[in-house]
This record gives sequence, structure tokens and C-alpha cells, in this order.
Amino acid sequence: MTEILPNFLKNRASLTPDREAIVYKNERLTFKELYERAYHYAGILTAFGIKDKDYVGFLVKNDLETVLHLYAMQIIGAKAVLLNNRLTVKEMAYQLSDANASYLITEENFQEQAIQLEEELVISIFYKEKLEDNPYIEPIEKRQLHLDDTCTIMYTSGTTGLPKGVIQSYGNHWWSAVGNTLNAGLYEKDTWLCAVPLFHISGYSILMRSIIYGMKIVLHDSFDEKKVLADLWKEKVTIISVVTTMLQRIEHVASDRFPDYFRYMLLGGGPATIDLLTRCMKKEIPVYYSYGMTETSSQIVTLSPEDSIRKIGSAGKPLFPAQLKIVNHSGETLEPNEVGEITVCGPNVSKGYLNKDNHLKDGWFFTGDIGYTDSEGFLYVLDRRSDLIISGGENVYPAEVEAVLTDMEGIREAAVIGIPNNKWGQVPIAFVAKEKSMLTEQQIINNCENSLAKYKIPKRIFFVTEVPRNASGKIVRRELRKWVEEQADFSL
Ligand code: ATP
Ligand code: MG
Repeated sequence: MTEILPNFLKNRASLTPDREAIVYKNERLTFKELYERAYHYAGILTAFGIKDKDYVGFLVKNDLETVLHLYAMQIIGAKAVLLNNRLTVKEMAYQLSDANASYLITEENFQEQAIQLEEELVISIFYKEKLEDNPYIEPIEKRQLHLDDTCTIMYTSGTTGLPKGVIQSYGNHWWSAVGNTLNAGLYEKDTWLCAVPLFHISGYSILMRSIIYGMKIVLHDSFDEKKVLADLWKEKVTIISVVTTMLQRIEHVASDRFPDYFRYMLLGGGPATIDLLTRCMKKEIPVYYSYGMTETSSQIVTLSPEDSIRKIGSAGKPLFPAQLKIVNHSGETLEPNEVGEITVCGPNVSKGYLNKDNHLKDGWFFTGDIGYTDSEGFLYVLDRRSDLIISGGENVYPAEVEAVLTDMEGIREAAVIGIPNNKWGQVPIAFVAKEKSMLTEQQIINNCENSLAKYKIPKRIFFVTEVPRNASGKIVRRELRKWVEEQADFSL
């Protein structure tokens, strides 16, 4: 039986109409106002031709108009295909055509890209700024949601290969929101600050939590640590979603003790160093460190602040509705402390990718990440399976070596890959971007000796101005491997 729930936004507007829903710059809307405006937008988008079966691309920045257009999709039942706005036109064109999107909602900031996309694809462009120039007809409202229905399509970051279009259903988002609140609780005064992109699951999941919980959002157009801290006091923010670099910057500038009403930073998206987590602890900044991916519709494993000292470095335990298993190459479940592939299962896990075969095995999603659980079931994420280096039979996790390098005085960022070696099979090498510093290759290698076993120490250090990253800011190690392959005389 398909589970049916009332339309989230409509239901929220009817339950708590006068509660504040969103604050963006100097605009504030209650849930009733939010619903009425989104409904009006839904009518205009309907007149533009958008129907419930349509896939609608979004090339937008964070602002109130974007939020209203996204909620309008839920009123009509159309599926939003959220593009990372830092992608190249070629990358966007690939995602839009893979998703068979016939409409693109965008804004004047991206006019140049939109014109090029219009030349390449059969797509109708709708500019947010021109909304009121368009006619209105009464929208056909989805009063009920089938939890299996597709709500959003989000492409993975493309760190390990071509991005994959993850199908996220209303049920996935619903269970993700439920899992979060069963873990962290829900307080009447909860206010969630969103300075992460709405096109990413970290941002979109805040929109979903807002209408499911009846919780206020403070939306920022981009991340600025000073503005985040200012709003923390002004809007009495209780929760903030952050990625590692954001938390670093907040921790760096935070001088006052955080207010008592502040509950936690939800930290996700990639590895965080123990050094950063310790600094946050010293400043009494509560952090829920989490592990998740586009396919799990936000966090699936989370470490609560009460465990953060005892289990520092761990990503925690699965949220209540989810499960976790570490498996070997044959898919057999491993014992605690044995390293293998992380597999997860739960109602927040996407059923599949667009235009690809079912990716679940008996309901379990193979994440491509490697890690282990300790005897109490706490997860430690080591790295991506495709980036693992095996040197002389020993496993080297690039993320561990990169963390040691970036903690070194004078190093801004580092990326580590393995290259073929006759004696050891593979050996690690590093690409390092320095801050203004005179550090030499040999000094860096010598410094590593304090923290790393010999087989983990990079055999060569190459200085670069920056390491290659994708539109999500993640290191793309395969580009470095490609560079090495292209060097005719490269040998160690
Ligand atoms: P692609 O799947 O296209 O290669 P991607 O996996 O980088 O891209 P996302 O879904 O944005 O796309 O990122 C999820 C990945 O981020 C996880 O699979 C994992 O590798 C990494 N990650 C997330 N949280 C953590 C964490 N706490 N520690 C280490 N890695 C993490
Ligand atoms: Mg992935």
C-alpha cells in the first residue's frame, strides 16, 4: 500500500498559520503567508505550462524567491532538478538532459548560462524576477502526497565519476526529517539557520524540516561567518548546518560564549579533523558530527555532543529509522573493528538513480566509502574505496595523510593519491598548496614522521597553487591521477 500524507506545506499552514516560517534579510513570512505566496507562484508556473509530471531544473541562488518557487513545485507535484550553480554549462546541460527537464527556473545572475542552455537543449526558461509579468491560472493542487512520489532530483557531487541523478521521494525527505528529530529532539523555539546551498541536500533538507516541524528558518544568501554569528543572537538561532570549512571559520571568529539557547551545529558533507572538533569543544560549541550523502537525503549516521569527547573522530551511530553494516568484498558482514565498505539501509535512502539500474542490494545501499564500527557500534569513516592506496600490503587512507599535512603550519590544502610502484605496488604522493611559507619538500616529509607510519608518508610532494576541487568543493583525486598518468617520465 502506498502511504499517503497530507501536502506538507498546506498542512503546516493550516496547523500553525501564524507561526513565523522564514526570515530572509528584512522579509519575514508566517506559514500562512508562505503557503499563500507559494500557491500564487504555483498558479503562475501552471500558466507557464508546468504540470505535475514535469522535471523542472533550478539554477538559482539562496533567497526567498527560490524558496517560494521550490515550495510551488510541491504544490503542483512537479519534480525539482536542483543544479549546483557552480557547474559549467556543459555539466548543467548533461544533468538537465539526463533528467529530461523541459523547464528551467533561473534568475538574472545566470542569464548567460541560461541562454547557452536554451541553445543546446529543448527547454523553456523562466526567470524568477519576471514572475509577475506572467499570467496566472488556478493551480491543480496536490492535496496529498504519496510517499513514493519523486520530490527532487539531486546529482551527486561527481567526486568519483560522473554525477548520478539521485531520485529523492517525499518519503525519503519525510524520514530524514523524522530521523533527525528523533535523534536531536524538537524544541518549540527551534530556529534553523541555513547558509548552505538550497540546491544541495544540506540546504533543501532544512526546507523540509521547517514545514514538517513547524520551525522557523533564517536563510542566508551565502556563507559569511560574521553574519552567521550576528543572526545567532539577533534571531535566537538554535541550530546551524555547516560543512567543515564553515565550522572552521565560525570557530575562528567566535569570541563570545555561545548563548544557552543555541543547541548544535549539524556538521556534514565530508571529513572533519579531530583538531577542529577539539577546538569547538574547548569553545563549548556543541557539534553533531554526521555522515551522509545525496543518496541518504542528508545525514544517516550522527554523533551526539554527549559522545563527542569519548568518541572523537567517529561519525556516530545510525539515526533511529536507519541501519548500518560494514561488509567485505563478498558482501559478508564484518565484525567490529574490521575495515570494509559502509552499507546503509533505511526509509531515507533513495530507491535509485535516474536512468540507471536499481542500486540497492536487498534494500542495502553500498556507499563506496570504507570504514569500521567499534565494539559499541560507532562508525569511523576512513575514505572512499576508489581512493584507497595499498602500499606493501598496508592500507593508506589519503584523508588521514591529508589531515596531517593540512594541520602543518604553512600548508593551506593538500591532496594525496597513490601511484604505481614496482617494489610496493603503490606509494602515496602529495600535492600541497602552501600559505606564504618557505617549507620545502624535505621539511614536509620530515614533519610527517612524527604523525605517520613510514608507509603512509608521501614519497614526493608537488607544490601547486590549489588542489582540484569539484563544484561542491570536494577534492577530485582522480584528476591528479590522470595528471600523473600523462607525465611520460614520471617514476619513483
Ligand atoms: P559522487 O557520488 O558523484 O562521487 P560524492 O559522493 O562526493 O560524489 P555527495 O553525495 O555530495 O557526493 O557526498 C557524499 C560523500 O561525502 C560520502 O559518500 C562520503 O564519501 C563523504 N562524506 C560525507 N560525510 C562524511 C564524513 N563524516 N566523513 C567522511 N566522509 C564523509
Ligand atoms: Mg557518492
